[in-house]
Amino acid sequence: MLRCNEVTRLCASEEIDGAPLKTRLAVRLHLMMCEHCRRYVRELARIGEAVRSLAVSEPDDADRDEALLRRVLPDRTPPPS
Ligand SMILES: [Zn+2]
Repeated sequence: MLRCNEVTRLCASEEIDGAPLKTRLAVRLHLMMCEHCRRYVRELARIGEAVRSLAVSEPDDADRDEALLRRVLPDRTPPPS
């Protein structure tokens, strides 16, 4: 069985897309059993969505950027205004 650090490394990189079927199945099995890695992969997806949103947002829209940061990092302390 893969270890958490192997699963997170594979999921954070593009290696998983080109990995052999055996590796992809092992990652899938690990994710079915490991809440920590599932949460990590969900957070990666949320960060990816936020980055894609930022890429198309207005460059000086600080309120929107702060709202995106709150979505990605809900526990983050906002900067003083
Ligand atoms: Zn894990």
